[in-house]
Amino acid sequence: AVSARRVTREFSGREVLSGVELDIRRGEFVALLGRSGSGKSTLLRAMAGLDPETGGRLLVPPGRAVVFQDPRLQPWKRVLENVILGLPRAGARERGRAALAEVGLAGHVRSWPATLSGGEAQRAALARALVREPELLLLDEPFGALDALTRLRMHALLRALCAAHRPAVLLVTHDVDEAILLADRILVLTDGRLGPARTVGLADGRRRTDPAFARLRGDL
Ligand code: ATP
Ligand code: MG
Repeated sequence: AVSARRVTREFSGREVLSGVELDIRRGEFVALLGRSGSGKSTLLRAMAGLDPETGGRLLVPPGRAVVFQDPRLQPWKRVLENVILGLPRAGARERGRAALAEVGLAGHVRSWPATLSGGEAQRAALARALVREPELLLLDEPFGALDALTRLRMHALLRALCAAHRPAVLLVTHDVDEAILLADRILVLTDGRLGPARTVGLADGRRRTDPAFARLRGDL
């Protein structure tokens, strides 16, 4: 469903992505780890087709949905209108309501985004993605603002959606346990390239196994 070849991106001469190679099949769930500033969001923006400065070749399906690190709801539209924005009219409101109920926001259909808590706004953004039943789902730390119980519910919801519609998923997370729980495959973005979750680059260019990932070995 997705293919990235030699994908590059630099900001004022500093290379953040330096030749990313990635394939995600339909129905495959890939988790992406990497230190803060390693370029994960930059890669997701590129895959969402939102960054024309990206170099290399990216093949992604037109039916894609993104949940960004921040919810990005439109403040002048109510929650339901945000969720169904751009969908064909027929049945959209019913599907939007159902998606909001699934993320636990049945009571906020007519709320204004500014009145939602951070976690509620993030769940609304998740409903907006899920209601589209996308072929490619790009998730940038979507559960970071949620409490543990709500996060578990969102994991279950995401797994159910993946089982039903089999999208290709790329989930950025800082939570190694979440990656192990949800993903078929775990990748780490280090020094602008993607690799398996085994090694990290050191500032001097050497590579070593990161203790934080050491317990993943054997799972990969
Ligand atoms: P985090 O885990 O903190 O979200 P990240 O891996 O998502 O980090 P990115 O947001 O992709 O990191 O940023 C990667 C690097 O590119 C950072 O050093 C950042 O400062 C830089 N960068 C990102 N966007 C821009 C931009 N529009 N202009 C200049 N530099 C940018
Ligand atoms: Mg980021």
